[in-house]
Amino acid sequence: MRVSSCFVLFIVTIGLTGQSPQRSGIHPEDMDSTCKPCTDFWRYVNGGWMDKNPIPARASSWGPFSILTEANQERTRTILEAAAADNSAERGSNLQKMGDFYASCMDTAAIDARGIAPLQPDFDRIAAIHSIKDLNDALISFQKTARPFGAVNGAVVGAFRLTSGQDPKNPSRVVARIVERDGAGRSGTSILSLPDRDYYFKTDEKSRNNREAFVAHAAKVLELTGTPREEAARQGREILAFETKLAEPVMPIAAKRDPEATYHPMGLAELRALAPDFDWPSLLREVGLPESTPINVAEPELVKKFNSLLTEETLDTWRMWLRWRTLKLAAPYLAKPFADEDFHFERTVLAGVQEQEPRWQTCSRVLDRDLSDALGEAYVAKYFPPEAKRRMSELVENLRAAMRDELDHSEWMQPATKKNAVEKLNALRVQIGYPDKWRDYSSLEIKRNTFFENVRAAWINGQQYEISKIGKPLTRNDWTMTPPTVNAYSSAGQVVVVFPAGILQPPFFDMQSDDAANYGAIGAVIGHEIGHQFDDGGSKYDSTGALNNWWTEDDRKKFDARTACVVDQFNTLDVGDGLRHNGKQVLGEALGDLGGLTVAYRAYQRSLGGKPGPVLDGFTADQRFFISFARVWGTQYRPEAMRLQLNTNNHPVSQYRALATLQNMPEFHRAFQCKTGDPMVRPPARQCKLW
Ligand SMILES: [Zn+2]
Repeated sequence: MRVSSCFVLFIVTIGLTGQSPQRSGIHPEDMDSTCKPCTDFWRYVNGGWMDKNPIPARASSWGPFSILTEANQERTRTILEAAAADNSAERGSNLQKMGDFYASCMDTAAIDARGIAPLQPDFDRIAAIHSIKDLNDALISFQKTARPFGAVNGAVVGAFRLTSGQDPKNPSRVVARIVERDGAGRSGTSILSLPDRDYYFKTDEKSRNNREAFVAHAAKVLELTGTPREEAARQGREILAFETKLAEPVMPIAAKRDPEATYHPMGLAELRALAPDFDWPSLLREVGLPESTPINVAEPELVKKFNSLLTEETLDTWRMWLRWRTLKLAAPYLAKPFADEDFHFERTVLAGVQEQEPRWQTCSRVLDRDLSDALGEAYVAKYFPPEAKRRMSELVENLRAAMRDELDHSEWMQPATKKNAVEKLNALRVQIGYPDKWRDYSSLEIKRNTFFENVRAAWINGQQYEISKIGKPLTRNDWTMTPPTVNAYSSAGQVVVVFPAGILQPPFFDMQSDDAANYGAIGAVIGHEIGHQFDDGGSKYDSTGALNNWWTEDDRKKFDARTACVVDQFNTLDVGDGLRHNGKQVLGEALGDLGGLTVAYRAYQRSLGGKPGPVLDGFTADQRFFISFARVWGTQYRPEAMRLQLNTNNHPVSQYRALATLQNMPEFHRAFQCKTGDPMVRPPARQCKLW
């Protein structure tokens, strides 16, 4: 009897996992069945969950991305706490560096006791500026401590950032670059103290209030260093005035999306013509580059402005601004009064966050950024199953095949353009989980009791690493996201799509669940990233990664007309409070979403081979595909965070990534029997379609 029942059970189990897994991958309890799917699909899918999960005081927004990000941080915490407790770690090993760095970050008593002392060498250098030559020398030395990609509070102390990057027209080569910020549309990585240039010029009440709050913030920080109150207030106003001048020529985020607009390779003679009062040869020499090194200047107008500020502003003003920027970049790593005031402005005023996250979380975040490959290597060894990589590769190839079909069957592209598009698609390389090669930190020294110096050492090391690539062939080993990150990216220059281990988990990717949910979630993410290769910017790069037009003139016009449909859709969406997206700014991401979901849907249909998918939890396979898609975008924002996102980010707000995309999808309308006139259906003549 027992044997027989076991046997039956065994057969049943095989049947379920082999052909039709039990787990649907969706969660009906998270939905709001009182809301109709054709009225507000976002609320229909996420309403139940959102009602039970208000935004915590420590967050500016909250949704599936946040939950997973915190879960990954808990995992990195386990690794870091173990490293910090491990007395046997070999000196100089990654384990020692992670452990000591983390311990130095957690030791807030030691950080507080040192007050502002860690900045004294920088202050001394600034105080010693008595000539334009001294100013040049100081600006050059600050370039060596530029922050790594993705850091908040600004890229560098100075009026531009020197870094490296691929030469867009000669993609196998790495060149020097001069930029205002790293990564288009990422807030806070600029040379400016406010999130973006528009913050200095917009005249609406909220923007004016932000500027007032900024002046008060700068004054407060200066007061903390011992500057008398009235003098601090005066300096706060002058700092804003100085940055307003510097911000004036900075290109708006939407304009920077055109790769041709930020391509200005120059030699020394041209640099001197742009900014004759800056000592370019010294800059190159000091960072170890030959004078013949060409530099791609993203925004020549900014460099011109920099030169006029060099000569027109007094040395007093420059010293004041450099001192402020030194404080601004350092504040989160200094004693509590500085870190608290920085939190107040950056997170509460600008993003609406009510309370600081626990210290371990801050430290996990700093380590993930500043020792990313050491922590990443430990993270994937412990938490990323090799099987996930295999399954994910299969999914990506299915999406690639579906995309090839889309391009092949496109009704409007001429054969020459189609051929080039398919060639580019075929050339696309896929990286899953973690980079092929880990970065070497052997020259980085980390000590257990000096947190600020550890952070600074990591930046110097990171900047040296960036500069060391200049003039060499591109290796394609370095990622711009860390392995625990819940995100993915696409680089048209490197012809690569990258999926960090952090996102390859539920609700994005679940090896135990039915395919419909996986295609709707991670499938749409894969489609989105592949889609970036063909968005407004990506489509200007060819299959080798060169900025090189492969379109016939006629096809490019048709493509632009199709993308204009999406610009119009986002420009006219009312997101509440009278706020709107800038359609051009979010175009690439919106195209990625629309193209990506379409291709993911086709890929899912192909995987079914003509058979209908199973009905699970009362939903058809197509319904689950779309529910799973919208679940991923179930993020709520505080009003301040919503504003910040609209102003500085090239991603649409989550709610509209779901709604606007689905309004254009006839396959979605069929799955839920939505009709023309329903809010979830864009009038058929205005539905946007890419291929
Ligand atoms: Zn994207």
